[in-house]
Amino acid sequence: MEITRDTPLTDFPGVGEARARKLEKLGLSKAGDLLTWYPRDYEDRRKVHTIRDAPLEGRVCVAAMAAEHPRLSRVRKGLELVQVKVVDNTGALHLTFFNQSYVERAIRAGEEYIFYGTVEVQGRRRTMVNPIFERAGTQSVTGCIMPVYRLTAGISNHLLASLVRQALPCAEGISETLPQRVRQARSLAAAEFAVKNIHFPQDEQALDLARRRLAFEELFYLAVGLSFLKDRRDQGGGGLAVPPRPKEEFLALLPFAPTGAQSRVMDEVAGDMASGRPMNRLVQGDVGSGKTVVAAYAGWLCAGSGCQGALMAPTEVLAEQHFKSLSTLLAPAEVRVGLLTGSMTAAEKIKTRTALARGEIGFVVGTHALISDGVEFANLALIVADEQHRFGVAQRAALAAKGGEDTPPHVLVMSATPIPRTLALIIYGDLDVSVIDQLPPGRTPISTYVVREDKRQRMYGFVRKQVAEGRQAYIICPAVEENPDAALPGEESPALNLKAVKTYADKLQKEVFPDLRVDILHGKMKPREKEAAMSAFARGETQVLVATTVVEVGVDVPNASLIIIENADRFGLSQLHQLRGRVGRGQHPSHCVLITATHSLEAMERLHTLASTTDGFKISEEDLKARGPGDFFGNRQHGLPQMKLADLTGDMRLLSEAQEAARELLEADPCLAAPENRPVWERVRRLFADTPDIFN
Ligand code: ADP
Ligand code: MG
Repeated sequence: MEITRDTPLTDFPGVGEARARKLEKLGLSKAGDLLTWYPRDYEDRRKVHTIRDAPLEGRVCVAAMAAEHPRLSRVRKGLELVQVKVVDNTGALHLTFFNQSYVERAIRAGEEYIFYGTVEVQGRRRTMVNPIFERAGTQSVTGCIMPVYRLTAGISNHLLASLVRQALPCAEGISETLPQRVRQARSLAAAEFAVKNIHFPQDEQALDLARRRLAFEELFYLAVGLSFLKDRRDQGGGGLAVPPRPKEEFLALLPFAPTGAQSRVMDEVAGDMASGRPMNRLVQGDVGSGKTVVAAYAGWLCAGSGCQGALMAPTEVLAEQHFKSLSTLLAPAEVRVGLLTGSMTAAEKIKTRTALARGEIGFVVGTHALISDGVEFANLALIVADEQHRFGVAQRAALAAKGGEDTPPHVLVMSATPIPRTLALIIYGDLDVSVIDQLPPGRTPISTYVVREDKRQRMYGFVRKQVAEGRQAYIICPAVEENPDAALPGEESPALNLKAVKTYADKLQKEVFPDLRVDILHGKMKPREKEAAMSAFARGETQVLVATTVVEVGVDVPNASLIIIENADRFGLSQLHQLRGRVGRGQHPSHCVLITATHSLEAMERLHTLASTTDGFKISEEDLKARGPGDFFGNRQHGLPQMKLADLTGDMRLLSEAQEAARELLEADPCLAAPENRPVWERVRRLFADTPDIFN
């Protein structure tokens, strides 16, 4: 069969309808897709051992000859055994295969094979169960460096590797995807070599070369795209100069004194806004560090010079909350604060829109509704994006476009996810960064416990105790409804036994806390219901709130002192840290209980990492290492293309080389108009397809 990049996987031997569907889940439908399905790891199977010298630890390759014809026996219905003795001049090895009757025909007495598996000693015998094997000299799954792929249920690594191997010939003579000059100047391997060796490297050196080349390529295109973005901004007109006002006047509005860090960041913001150039600043501060105050300050400055500011929040719950606190805070300063969310009635929306268009509202708080068409500002001068990682780069740009043509608004981005420096450099390469590295005084640290199912009753007792003391508790579940079929992304098996908000809350109310007020909050509720649930909890009317991660971002109920996270292993570390930040916001000692039934040591280790530190930066670095930057921001919501190979925690050198190469290229040909650079332009455009504003 002649395989081209467009050959559908159903044409491959062994791929039927069912498997094709499963492969589809991984985004693999054509031969070409396999080429860029890079391994996540490798197994060195190059060393081939004799039977006696084979280590008893881990899986190893053993070369041996079949000493007999394999014996097939049916132990009982549904259980078939194939047994065969293999030998070399150092000893014998007894192989057992479960339910692989084909082995009876596949192994022939007198032939040499390489077996890959775990050698065990049983009495005086050496044994191996279900080894992978092939004829000696074949070197397709033994005696080589073997790729380890990301998988899905029903697709084994063995199958995937064999598909990739079959698809590999279509990498032959693939066109070069990096400009010749870039490749030569940095001694990068050719595309064909790289693709072949990323899957089946000849040796470590070839693998290094391949990886370097492909990672460079990803970073290079990312850098070119981001340069476009930055250039567009730089070429924009000057910003509106917002004159400074006496800071004491603002501080007088606050019920507390700002921390040193808050104060410093406020000065930086005021400096930016007065400079006459548009502000592009990222404020990073861990959960509870008090970022809202900085936003309020910027809004107050803005309104003071007769301009408008807009604060964009990722959820309705959060928008409402900001609206309330900012209205109260800024009322004495006679700044009118408005609200605009998707769930408001048409009449309410029109009212806000009209007031915005007339310039009557000084500071508007809203959700994505703020970007929708039909929202006009009289003179928008400031955009604050709260918890920015939930917004794509595109959304930030769309809002910025609502400012006047000549005077782009000041942009303030606030993030509670402490972004490791490397990543910040890429994603926010175009922003100045301020860090609020100090928590307001008087916070009691949150104690975190990792517990298993056997402590469940004790845990419920603890909820009771907290409530008896007048406190409130969150219980977080990973799912809304019970749905045994719903496999979570990247999950190998269906997500069984996940606690689901609705059924679990019912059960808690009926069986565990009949005397307490239990309520629910999840993303599928109508906005009005959400708002009602959230404010009942904020007022202390509800004692136990069973919720999904909708409470993850920013929600502030200081009386809540306990958060329980069910199926805690299902969440990323940064997300757990965010969730934990929902408590410990008042003077009460607070607690976070991570309950899990996982058997994975790795998952337990991650949970214990969280229990051992409250340092958001440390946690996010760990998270980044464990899960990669794609997951880090959840579903590509950052609006940046996914990196397949480039390790954004470690490839710092490569990253700056790629940035340098991008800069050189764009200096020589700013619009990538030269014929030899058109492919680069095309590729960047495809890469940033979700961020179309870059190319307007
Ligand atoms: P985040 O950075 O997570 O958005 P918030 O702005 O919601 O934090 O602030 C968390 C809580 O801390 C709020 O209740 C806020 O009123 C309070 N707060 C903020 N700054 C101070 C401060 N300097 N002193 C005391 N409390 C503060
Ligand atoms: Mg916040």
